[in-house]
Amino acid sequence: MKKITNYPKLSIKTNQISFSMNDVLIIGTVAFDTIETPFGKVEKALGGSAAYASFAASLFSKPALISVVGNDFPKEHIKLMKKKSINIEGLQITGKTFHWDGFYEYDMNEAKTRKTELNSLEHFKAEVPENYKDIKYIFLANIDPEQQLGVLRQMSKPKFVVLDTMNFWINSKKKSVIDAVKKADVLLLNDAEARQLFGTANLVNAANQALRLGPKAVIIKKGEHGALLFTKNKHFNAPGYPLENIKDPTGCGDSFGGAFIGYLAKTKDLSESNFRKAVVYGSVVASHNAEDFGLNRLKRLTMNDIEKRYREFQDIREF
Ligand code: AMP
Repeated sequence: MKKITNYPKLSIKTNQISFSMNDVLIIGTVAFDTIETPFGKVEKALGGSAAYASFAASLFSKPALISVVGNDFPKEHIKLMKKKSINIEGLQITGKTFHWDGFYEYDMNEAKTRKTELNSLEHFKAEVPENYKDIKYIFLANIDPEQQLGVLRQMSKPKFVVLDTMNFWINSKKKSVIDAVKKADVLLLNDAEARQLFGTANLVNAANQALRLGPKAVIIKKGEHGALLFTKNKHFNAPGYPLENIKDPTGCGDSFGGAFIGYLAKTKDLSESNFRKAVVYGSVVASHNAEDFGLNRLKRLTMNDIEKRYREFQDIREF
């Protein structure tokens, strides 16, 4: 098993020392995605929950990644991650890269899985590099919940933990998913996953069950229809952005989560009102992500694009 060690812990500028410490840790999958939508198809494109999440988080903060890929993983993908200033010291390389093959029909809110080839993910054991252990903001993106819990056990003192999961893990490892929910500050789910995990058709009921397990907030993503934020006594509802050009919604949940935690790590404000702004930044980045296949849109996305759409979100809400 190879590890990539390339990342400078300190960057020294002229006569002062400036720390370029990572402020968000992201564990999740880095994948080859084969995706078919009514608007086209890509084969074995760079994807995975941690890839989308770290590209999105890198727009706001300095993410450090934990994941695994195979020996078949192209060098240009590694180069691209480095270019986005993503710390990949925690990326293990062994066996064959995880491959997800899925498709969407005209209802783009629901991904249908054709094939999940776990490959190197099957025997993956997440190891937290020494210089990641003090990172305070942690995104447990979609991956085996036992690995999510393993990462948390290795951290010295996490301050803020966001958890995501999906039907695959709720079906196969529900108990571990619930254990991970108990350790999270914020639980992120889409509406179908919330219904599945809490055995109810009612999203308010699902959110309240989740809050009783420990998280301070639950975010239920409703695809192009926006996102709901539930805290103990409050409820916020971010609109969906009226996108005319949707090509591929893969990774919208992950990029929502990456932008959400990236923005909070940058502002270091965990108040309910700042959560609302983070939800809107998450929605902005996710809506951009759906405009092109795979990571194509996030690769080019700039802070100007984000701020422009953030203002449009504010306008949509004014009445
Ligand atoms: P999203 O569209 O945000 O729900 O996530 C899409 C990403 O999830 C794709 O890039 C897939 O590679 C990744 N993915 C698919 N199945 C799994 C799985 N079982 N565990 C973790 N990640 C997965």
